[in-house]
Amino acid sequence: MNAIEKARSVIESYDGPPIRIMEVCGTHTHEIFRQGIRNLLPENIRLISGPGCPVCVTPVSFIDEAVMLALEKGCTVCTFGDLVRVPGSSQSLQTARGKGAAVKVVYSPADAEQYAREHPQEQVVFLSVGFETTTPSSCIALQSAMEDGLDNFSLLTANKTMPAAYRAMMHTTDAYLYPGHVCAVVGTGDCLEMLRMGMSGVVCGFTPAELLTAIAVIVKKTREGKPFFVNCYPRVVTDAGSPQAVALVEKYMEPCDSRWRGIGELAGSGMKLRGEFAAYDARVKYSLPKIEGRENKACRCGEVLQGKCTPQQCPVYGKACTPEHPVGACMVSSEGACSAWYLYKRS
Ligand code: SF4
Repeated sequence: MNAIEKARSVIESYDGPPIRIMEVCGTHTHEIFRQGIRNLLPENIRLISGPGCPVCVTPVSFIDEAVMLALEKGCTVCTFGDLVRVPGSSQSLQTARGKGAAVKVVYSPADAEQYAREHPQEQVVFLSVGFETTTPSSCIALQSAMEDGLDNFSLLTANKTMPAAYRAMMHTTDAYLYPGHVCAVVGTGDCLEMLRMGMSGVVCGFTPAELLTAIAVIVKKTREGKPFFVNCYPRVVTDAGSPQAVALVEKYMEPCDSRWRGIGELAGSGMKLRGEFAAYDARVKYSLPKIEGRENKACRCGEVLQGKCTPQQCPVYGKACTPEHPVGACMVSSEGACSAWYLYKRS
């Protein structure tokens, strides 16, 4: 038997008590749907989509800040494409663009820094969202801007780190599928800390064989009846991760409390620019006021992100809320649970 066949055999023959497995990462959610893995699982193994989609957990107040920068402060806002369509309290960046705001889609923070270099007459703000995987690239862009002597480039940060979310979600699940790319950067220390707290999990890659093997390992280890941790992605993830990437982020950023859509404020779960780099911090540079965003009351993204309901249990799923007309961030993002359910039509 090959790896996939072996894993399927373990999973499909499982006849023990129910196991709830949270795939923390939005890329896992989409790959699990795309590969049809949910359809292979017996009824007593349940996958729950977690809060690991950066666009989905970015609060509505961040969109409001970006709209304010674009419409009222006259900045050119550079962003990943998904964020453009995420609804703010009253409008999205796409709507703001329709009113004349300069909103550019870029594919990396480096693209935004290059745009700023090539357009010195514009004040460019990059919307820096994401987890441990993407934060280093924002820091590299900042470093380049400083080396290039740019005074027209800044970051609006909503970067987040996973450990507080792991702790916040641990009572909703029996085991985590830890995101392989996050662990590739920070190593396995956070997972081991969760193990010390009694939480089980495995680091998981992204191919069908890696996903099925990780689920099979959870099934086998659960039968043993003790909390466990296994790195099922050793070809990429080492215990130490990438010390260079971690050091780069520590040089430019420091932890802060951060608001997660639907979950609320999690202490120490965000990253902000250190005080000495305030000239590149858009909130400071443009004196942004504190904004309390207003979520659309119809949207249940917050519960979806905590595994408390499935997208199909949201009353507007597939009706008022579709990828063409999204009501919430989870339907906009290419990593969102609602878009995965809609795209792959889980019945
Ligand atoms: S279906 Fe739409 S409105 Fe409902 S939770 Fe998902 S994104 Fe929000």
